[in-house]
Amino acid sequence: MNKPKMTTEKGVPSNSRVLMLLGQLERLSRDAMLADAEIGRQITAKILHLIQTQEKTRKEIMSKGSSGMEVILATLENTQDLQTILNILYILNELLTVGGGRRELMLQLHSLLAKVGPKDRKFGVKARLNGALNVTVNLLKQNLQNHKLLLPCLQVLRVYSSNSVNAVTLGKNGVVELMFKIIGPYSKKNTSLLKVSLDTLGALVKSKTNARRVVDQAHVPVLLYIYQDWHRNDTRHRHMLIRKGILGCLKNITNIKLGRKAFIDADGMRILYNTSTECLPVRTLDPLINTSSLIMRKCFPKNRLPLPTIKSVFHHQLPHVPAGGPVAQLYNQPLGVDDVVDESDDNEDAETENDTENEEEEKDHHAGNDDIETDISKLRPKETHSRPFEELKIYERFFLELSEDFQGFNFDNPKSGVTATPAAPKSHRPIIVPTAQALPPKHPTAAPLQGECHLAKGEHPHPEASPPAPAATPAPVHPLDLDTINITKDQDGCCDHSQIQPHPGLEQELVQGLERVALEGAGPQGRAGGGGGVNRHNRQPPLLAARQGGGAEETLAEEEGGEGAVLEVPDTALLLPLHDPDLYVEMVKSTSSVPQYSEVAYPDYFGHVAPTFREHILERVYGVQRTKIFQDIERLIHPNDILDKVVYDLDIQSCPVIDDGESLKFNSQFESGNLRKAIQVRKFEYDLILNSDINSNHYHQWFYFEVSGMRVGAPYRFNIINCEKSNSQFNYGMQVLMYSVQEAISGRPRWVRTGTDICYYKNHFSRSSIAAGGQKGKSYYTMTFSMTFNHKDDVCYFAYHYPYTYSTLKMHLQKLEALRTPQIYMRQDVLCETLGGNSCPLLTITAMPESTSNDQICQFRNRPLVFLSARVHPGETNASWVMKGTLEFLMGSSPLAQSLREAYIFKIVPMLNPDGVVNGNHRCSLSGEDLNRQWQSPSPELHPTIYHTKSLLQYLAAIQRAPLVFCDYHGHSRKKNVFMYGCSLKETVWQTNISATSCDLHEDLGYRTLPKILSQTAPAFSMASCSFVVERSKEATARVVVWREIGVQRSYTMESTLCGCDQGKYKGLQIGTRELEEMGAQFCVALLRLKRLTSPLELRNHAHLLDVESDLIETRCKVTSSPSTYVLEDEEHSFMEEVDYSAESGDEPDNDPDTADPHDNHLSDSDYNNHRDSLT
Ligand SMILES: [Zn+2]
Repeated sequence: MNKPKMTTEKGVPSNSRVLMLLGQLERLSRDAMLADAEIGRQITAKILHLIQTQEKTRKEIMSKGSSGMEVILATLENTQDLQTILNILYILNELLTVGGGRRELMLQLHSLLAKVGPKDRKFGVKARLNGALNVTVNLLKQNLQNHKLLLPCLQVLRVYSSNSVNAVTLGKNGVVELMFKIIGPYSKKNTSLLKVSLDTLGALVKSKTNARRVVDQAHVPVLLYIYQDWHRNDTRHRHMLIRKGILGCLKNITNIKLGRKAFIDADGMRILYNTSTECLPVRTLDPLINTSSLIMRKCFPKNRLPLPTIKSVFHHQLPHVPAGGPVAQLYNQPLGVDDVVDESDDNEDAETENDTENEEEEKDHHAGNDDIETDISKLRPKETHSRPFEELKIYERFFLELSEDFQGFNFDNPKSGVTATPAAPKSHRPIIVPTAQALPPKHPTAAPLQGECHLAKGEHPHPEASPPAPAATPAPVHPLDLDTINITKDQDGCCDHSQIQPHPGLEQELVQGLERVALEGAGPQGRAGGGGGVNRHNRQPPLLAARQGGGAEETLAEEEGGEGAVLEVPDTALLLPLHDPDLYVEMVKSTSSVPQYSEVAYPDYFGHVAPTFREHILERVYGVQRTKIFQDIERLIHPNDILDKVVYDLDIQSCPVIDDGESLKFNSQFESGNLRKAIQVRKFEYDLILNSDINSNHYHQWFYFEVSGMRVGAPYRFNIINCEKSNSQFNYGMQVLMYSVQEAISGRPRWVRTGTDICYYKNHFSRSSIAAGGQKGKSYYTMTFSMTFNHKDDVCYFAYHYPYTYSTLKMHLQKLEALRTPQIYMRQDVLCETLGGNSCPLLTITAMPESTSNDQICQFRNRPLVFLSARVHPGETNASWVMKGTLEFLMGSSPLAQSLREAYIFKIVPMLNPDGVVNGNHRCSLSGEDLNRQWQSPSPELHPTIYHTKSLLQYLAAIQRAPLVFCDYHGHSRKKNVFMYGCSLKETVWQTNISATSCDLHEDLGYRTLPKILSQTAPAFSMASCSFVVERSKEATARVVVWREIGVQRSYTMESTLCGCDQGKYKGLQIGTRELEEMGAQFCVALLRLKRLTSPLELRNHAHLLDVESDLIETRCKVTSSPSTYVLEDEEHSFMEEVDYSAESGDEPDNDPDTADPHDNHLSDSDYNNHRDSLT
């Protein structure tokens, strides 16, 4: 050990002593012993002490011929030890006060610091604490002409500036001005100096005070001038990083309002637009274009939407408006509330403003974790029932099957109707009903208890119950001419869909069908027929005119130029057994909408035959977002090119119709339609504004509108400019849906995925903070797509997803009733009326008992219940298509369907929000509220469908018949595949920090079984996307309330993607109605498997089933060990090709400026593809 040796040096003259110490240090350095940090620290500490106490020592080290300085600096360069570095810095600091060779020392010192600094994250702080900032600044000021010295000083300064406190201090000391003395126009000399000063300046102006300083001293035009100069002269792009450095400064300066104003005043928009346009052909200049675009978007003046108010254009008077509720708040807002001001101010507390977007996302992320329910009491079944049984008893009438005895029913001749027969003998054999209900019996007096059969005479349902009351053989509510349905079609419905492979003959069949069944002139005609005389003369497309004129068909055929279009309703009966245009029109007549629609959209009238070709998830074209954004910026730069012509506007009474041949014609005034306004921006470009949900001022995402008057082959661009979500599947390959009437009458009635150059990005429209509900003013997003139309005189429809109207549901239900066979027990009840005066259907489907024998009737009554619902969110039309698949399967004639009906009683509310669907809402009902947040305490007046559906479930719980499975079908706009959310106490607890003892809770793993089965059987289903965590924000949803209050362990939300799949058989494809319906059918098949798995008897007898169960447990273990079980709302990774999602984001994929290779700054297409692959 060296330590004792050094302590013996006492008494040696001090000058010798310092030299001796230096000698030791040199040896340490040479022998690479600096790794032994302790020795280095001690020696340097002693040297420091000597220097501080004896002036002589300083002179000795600095004297000519002494190698002391070199040794110290060499040590500084070699050591890894922080304390040693600090000691040396102190030594150097002391030495600086001595004259002679100082400049040389400073040069060396700064060279070293420039190397050391970036490696130490705390370097800037240490430098400030040691008073080193001013040393460097003064040195700079005194040596502005000494370029050799300047460079290392600037490099050190750059490191200092990265600390925000330093930046403010340095700014006060005039460093911002200093930088402007160094940076200048194009020159081949001293480019490194320039680069470093720009980087330093860029770091300094992250501080708002410094940014303001730059603005105050009119340096913004200077920066823009310099940028243009470099742009002009740096023709070979050797100094891209200098140009990028200038933009970096502008980017930070424009984070403050004054900065944006200065930028606009200095003509910054035009300058950056022009330079960027010139850079476009050179791919390596992408970073410049992207940063320019970021700055321009940020500076683009914020505007309110071009609407009189963002409140919904339609209003519905509620029975009562709860004070303090969302509707009261909305209508109490002051006038002019929508006016948008630039809300970001320059207060110091707004220091973090530039990264709001990221912060929001981060907050979301954290909120996601914070959102997990940690209150154990809320994770346990709720013990108390708030409602007395007497109150629930009225719901008995919706459960006729639970007391049905079929006494008057002739099983030999089921069509003969109800006749009186003697009661069957009683049976008391207990029947096991595997419900998940864990609650103790509460109401022993309640109607049929499980395990018992009361087949007492006169136990017939209440006479007032169930208006159609189709007791034993429930007859169709509306008689239907069966001749219109081709019953030879396989009635397994969507069960077959999974097996039907697309075959080319299909369309051929359709066309032939067309020839056979031509509608004679005066048949029900689209909106005209359905509407009962809506006056639309001036806007009727030629197509309609021809249809109505009857004899005009030839004229049109001529116009069609031999396309062979015939004006007929496509005969889809073969392919769409549940569709009937005439019946649809009938249904529409009894549907009430707030705007009192009287038109029928062609797609709903004709029906949709899923195309047989595959629709791939769209590959994103490189740079598409940038191109679109530049076109948007052009509006500001060349305002005279902008037409700004309103061509459709629901805010104006008798919406104006412009028919000058120069503009498209729009229409959205039909069931489920949503388009509020269309503005022609350029010859072939339209801004579209969606309507808010009724009685709200936001929630718009769903759209469905008609377009006509198009030119064939013209490149149309559509921009929906008031989207709200911060990201969308439109950025990940999803396309919009289009329906062409010309195609339909040519035998291809179908929605197809369409549109190119699709992207989704933050735009320059926003709403004020008050209108946004007190938050910071919120920006809107643009969803843009381009397309060309193929047919002249076509009428086309665009939709967010495959439309499925309330009238469609009613039509399907009628058709389904007609499919009933003697084996099927099916009943349609009206659960309640909605606020808008539509009825909410409730279906009961099960199998008829084989006879009235006691055993049969007991089995019938005691079948476990499965409770399904859908479409609480109107914009999630996919949920209805899945429901259609489920219903069609349940009514099918396959043995599987029969087994399923024999296994369960299905209670189904296929549309929980008819009003929302009818009126083209995206999320809410007429109360302006999200109905799936009302399950905790639904109001019978404001949320009738939820109130009564919950009551049905409460009734079941009260009579000990809580369903085995509850599932609410939804659509998911931000994730791919189909998946489920469930509720698990344990999995929720595992995601939190609740101590292990409290998670010593018993929980049956059964909740995983159904999704697990689905992942094995349904190709679109993905187990990996499922989550069983109970979130606080979801505590009022159906899933959580039914789990907690009703005690249903298998309570789910099933989410279907609006986009497509990234796994399984449909990987890479967008989802269509065929896949959605298949999903609904597969859900049924899975329930049958579940039945086998949950029956204790069967388990005992079939060992292999036990294997499956243990499989499931296995999976559980695997999944729960991974933290990714918890699925956040927004799953897609942020899009890599274009970073400037949002104008506010200061976040760029910026590499270290010195090491950045411009070629690598942005992902190439192949990188992008790899990235996408990695997402899967
Ligand atoms: Zn939903």
